[in-house]
Amino acid sequence: MTTVFTLGNSDGERRCTAACHDATGPVCACLCGGRFHGAARKPGGVEEALQEAGEQFLASLKAEDPESYHAILRAVDRQRQLALPMGGAR
Ligand SMILES: [Zn+2]
Repeated sequence: MTTVFTLGNSDGERRCTAACHDATGPVCACLCGGRFHGAARKPGGVEEALQEAGEQFLASLKAEDPESYHAILRAVDRQRQLALPMGGAR
């Protein structure tokens, strides 16, 4: 079962999972607030919903907190460089 994201605090942990992604009813009781509700049944599925959510998050972060936005981009670049095989891309 794919978990899109998890939120936890001292009261426990909640997850957005296939129970939400495969849902057919109109009401979402998940912590995602409906963003991924029934997404597996739509064209593009959960993967496309995740892509859209990520793009919207980065766009709002760029507008509201450019410093954090650029810090995330630098971290992603570093992660990509670490993922390259020895000697880097040629
Ligand atoms: Zn959900």
